[in-house]
Amino acid sequence: MNSVTAIKSSKIDTHSIPSDLFIGGKWIKPSSGKRIDVFNPSTEERLATIADATVEDGISAVDAAAAAAKGWAKTAPRKRAEILLKAYNLMMAKADWLAELISIENGKALADAKGEVNYAAEFFRWYAEEAVRINGDISIAPGGANRIMVQYQPVGISVLVTPWNFPAAMATRKIGPALAAGCTCILKPATETPLTAFAMVEILAEAGVPDGVVNVITTSSPGPVISAMLHDPRVRKLSFTGSTGVGRRLLREASDCVINCSMELGGNAPFIVFEDADIDAAIEGAMIAKMRNGGEACTAANRFYIHESIYDAFAKKLSAKMGAMNVDDGWLPGTQCGPLVNAPSLQKVVRFVDDAVARGAKVLTGGKKLDRKGYFYPPTVLTDVAPNSELLHDEIFGPVAALVSFKTEDEVIALANDTEYGLVSYVYTQNLARGLRVSEQLDAGMVALNRGLVSDPAAPFGGTKQSGLGREGAHHGLLEFTEAKYIATSW
Ligand code: NAD
Repeated sequence: MNSVTAIKSSKIDTHSIPSDLFIGGKWIKPSSGKRIDVFNPSTEERLATIADATVEDGISAVDAAAAAAKGWAKTAPRKRAEILLKAYNLMMAKADWLAELISIENGKALADAKGEVNYAAEFFRWYAEEAVRINGDISIAPGGANRIMVQYQPVGISVLVTPWNFPAAMATRKIGPALAAGCTCILKPATETPLTAFAMVEILAEAGVPDGVVNVITTSSPGPVISAMLHDPRVRKLSFTGSTGVGRRLLREASDCVINCSMELGGNAPFIVFEDADIDAAIEGAMIAKMRNGGEACTAANRFYIHESIYDAFAKKLSAKMGAMNVDDGWLPGTQCGPLVNAPSLQKVVRFVDDAVARGAKVLTGGKKLDRKGYFYPPTVLTDVAPNSELLHDEIFGPVAALVSFKTEDEVIALANDTEYGLVSYVYTQNLARGLRVSEQLDAGMVALNRGLVSDPAAPFGGTKQSGLGREGAHHGLLEFTEAKYIATSW
C-alpha cells in the first residue's frame, strides 16, 4: 500500500486510503513503478500519488476477474443480494466521510457530494433487490409443437470505465448491476478522482465481495490499457461513461472482438420554459438542472429556451439566484458552487463565454474567471446568445446558463432537437396536454416535465443519438449485464 500525502485544508485523513492497483483482492504496485499525481481543484494542492498501470497490469486484472468468474456466476442470487445490501449499509455508515472525500478530489460542493453518496449507495440497494428477480420466460412457439425457453445469464467479464464528475455514482451504477447479474469486473476510474473508487472497493471487500470479483486499476495510458483488455477474448462487456469523443473511439476498439457495449455519453440538454409555466417552479428547477455539481453533469441544462413573453422576467430572477450563490472551496460548509475539476475544464468555460460575448451575448451576472487559486468560475447568466455561439452546440460543463428566446411550440421543438446529442430535455408548462405532446416529440432518452432532476436508480437512465447506447438503472440496467440464452425444446 502506498499512502497519500495529507490534505492540509480538510480534516480528512487521506493516509488511510490505499492508492495502488486492487487486483485479485490485493493492493499491488504497478509494474511500471510509476505514479500519477492527484490534485485538489479548490487549492491545487497535491492530494495523492496513485499507481500508473501498464497494459500488463490491465491483463493481470483480467486474469483475476477470469479466475473469479465461475464462482461468482454460481453464487446464489440471495447471497449476491446480501453482499450488495451490506455494501449499501457500509456506504451509508460512511456517507459523511465519503462525501468529503468526493468534494476534496472533485471540487463539488459538499451538499452535492452528500447527494451523490446517497444516490450512489442506492444503486447497491436497488441491485440487491434486483439480484433475486432475474426471471426468464417460456412460451409456446406459434406452430404449437415447440417450446421457447429464455434464461438470462451473466454476460461475462466486464470492463467498467468511469468519469470524474460523479466518482461514486458512476461506479456503483455499473458495479451494482454487474455483481447482481453474476459478472466479475475491472473498474477504471478517472485519474482526477481515483480515491473515491479506492474507498469504494474497500467497502465492497468488507461487505464480502470475493477476491477478483471487483478489480480496480488507474492509468495515465487509458487508450492502450483499455484496448488491450477489449482485445482479450475473455472480456465480454464494456460499460463506459464519459465523453462522446472517447465513446466513439472505444466503440471502434470494441468492434474488433464484437464486445457488448453500454455507452453513457455526453449531453446538450435544452431547458424549455413555456409562457404558461409556473415561473418560480421553473427557476427552482433551473437552479438544480444547471447548478447541481457546479454544472459538471451530463444532464446539466446547457441551452435555456424561454418564451419571449416571460424571457426578461425569467432572466432577471435566474441571474439574481445564480449571482447570489456562495462560491468557495467545495468541502467548506455553506459552499454552493465549488471549482471546476481542472485547468482545461476552466479554460473551456472561459473560451465558451468569451466566444458567446464576442458574438453579442450580454452578461447578466458572472462572466469572468475568479482571481484566486483553484479552478473557479462564477455562476454566469448570458442573454441574447447568438445561434452560432459555440456553447449552444457543445457541452459547457460549467456554471453558465445561456438564454435564448422563442415564439412557438414547433420552433422550440426544432431548436431543442437540433443537436447530435439526445440525453435529457427539460420542459416547464402548466398545460399537461402540451407537456406530454412536447415530451413525445423531444429526441432524448429522458424528459424532465416540470422537474429539474431525472436521476433515480429505479429509472432507466440513458440517451438517444450520440448520447449513448443502452440504459443504466432500473431493471434495464441489470439486463445490460446479461445475455439472453434461448433453449429450443419440445415435450
Ligand atoms: P472522458 O471521456 O474524458 O473520460 C471518461 C473516462 O474514459 C475516464 O476514465 C478516462 O480516463 C477514460 N478515457 C479517456 N480516454 C480514453 C481512451 N482513449 N480509451 C479508454 N478510456 C479513456 O470524460 P470525462 O471528462 O471524464 O467526463 C465528462 C464526460 O462524461 C462528459 O462528456 C459527460 O457528459 C459524460 N458523462 C456522461 C454521463 C451519462 O450518463 N451519459 C454521466 C456522467 C458523465
